[in-house]
Amino acid sequence: MNRAFDIGIESLAATTSSGAGPAPSCAPEPARRGAPAAKSFYIETFGCQMNDHDSEKVAGVLLGRGYRPAETPADADLLLYNTCSIREKAAQKVFSRLGDFKAAARDRGKVVGVLGCVAQQEGEEIFERAPWVSLVCGSASYRRLPELVAQIESGGRRVTGLDLDTDETFETELTRRDNPIRAYLTIIEGCDYSCAYCVVPRTRGPERSRSSASILGEVRRLAGAGYTEIQLLGQTVNSYRDPSARGLNFAGLLVAVAAVPGIRRVRFTTSHPSDFTREIIEAIDATPALCDHIHLPVQSGSTRILRSMRRTYTRQAYLDKISWIRAARRPISITSDVIVGFPGETEADFEETLTLLDAAQFDGVFSFKFSPRPNTPAQHMDSTISEVEQGRRLAVLQEHQRQIQLARNQKLVGSEHEVLVDSHHAARNQWAGRTSGNRIVNFTSPHLSLLGEYIQARVVRAGPNSLVGEHVS
Ligand code: SAM
Ligand code: SF4
Repeated sequence: MNRAFDIGIESLAATTSSGAGPAPSCAPEPARRGAPAAKSFYIETFGCQMNDHDSEKVAGVLLGRGYRPAETPADADLLLYNTCSIREKAAQKVFSRLGDFKAAARDRGKVVGVLGCVAQQEGEEIFERAPWVSLVCGSASYRRLPELVAQIESGGRRVTGLDLDTDETFETELTRRDNPIRAYLTIIEGCDYSCAYCVVPRTRGPERSRSSASILGEVRRLAGAGYTEIQLLGQTVNSYRDPSARGLNFAGLLVAVAAVPGIRRVRFTTSHPSDFTREIIEAIDATPALCDHIHLPVQSGSTRILRSMRRTYTRQAYLDKISWIRAARRPISITSDVIVGFPGETEADFEETLTLLDAAQFDGVFSFKFSPRPNTPAQHMDSTISEVEQGRRLAVLQEHQRQIQLARNQKLVGSEHEVLVDSHHAARNQWAGRTSGNRIVNFTSPHLSLLGEYIQARVVRAGPNSLVGEHVS
């Protein structure tokens, strides 16, 4: 049994750099001299897994300064909003949420900070729109957080960290791990692509990779702490280039991570099609610990729209990579992202996206209506598609994909899969977990404690988004 439920904090300081040292400490480091005793913090996170993991590292920085976590925003002295601005709705939510804490900041002296993409995008404007905010820090400046928090502790108002021109990554002495089953680990930050619709290059800065020694050291510490599943993160995770003399490429890093004793599953997201190589598939084929799932966003099935999106590949080049993956010795599930209603997308372009779904046979798709974002080339493009038409295309696409998923999942009925159990619904006595291919399997079991266990399940029923299994062993 190899479970990680007691893990709250992963401490770099508690282990040797080879990772062969004692298990990570679960206690925060003592407060530094001069830091206010027992101030509390609460972090609310919007957006993607990278934001979730950034929040884990920010929490680690604060724990290292002697802060304690608060149960609710109302109990916290320091309230942080880690924000997402990938689509307009996400960014709007942040300002409405900040409004909820105006009175608490003004009347009860709470310190409110905005982190992440909205912080980077709006910068000091946030102080104008929400004057009760004291800290604005974009994700490219998180390495400066200890210094920024120190400024706040000594009474600073309007403290900012907004530099983008960095070649450093955000590495922390402590990381609070919020997911007891799966450990996230950022291997590459920022993005050097310039997709016409996307804010990421402006909010997260240029691409920079962590050294393989630092990544492997962290994986060893996580394995020592009981984690068996690691998810490597990056906006274009497969563009990874080891900056150290070892010079591993992404496939080489995958193999090295999977070889760390104790690691049974390695996932990675998000892969960019242009950097997707046969070597990655060969690594998955040869290495059982590399999960058989690839998330490969296509965005559109029309080469004309892909060009207008500045996506750097054609429909055919994308489909060629899908056929490499389908030719692998192990069945590998493939998921994708699609944007509908990009400016200039005709009915014929949209039809090409539907036929690409048929050709690719994805196991899951995240689909979005195009949302114009500030300071992106697509913001002021002509031939916009009405909200109503975008909604119609989204519904058509989702129904089309639902049928594909249902048919693919139904073919799995009768097959057996290894499932890592990650949740339990006590009232229904129902357990759920994921296969290596990232499919959700729900099942019942007389066992009382399965969280974090690997079990074998046989699929007995299939829906479009999940499977129902029976616990075999
Ligand atoms: N780096 C990944 C890639 O190259 O595909 C994407 C990362 S982005 C955070 C996640 C997804 O959000 C994208 O794949 C895209 O489908 C969607 N997205 C990004 N900007 C968008 C926009 N302006 N409107 C709608 N969807 C958007
Ligand atoms: Fe955004 Fe494109 Fe970079 Fe992905 S590759 S983060 S979509 S700019």
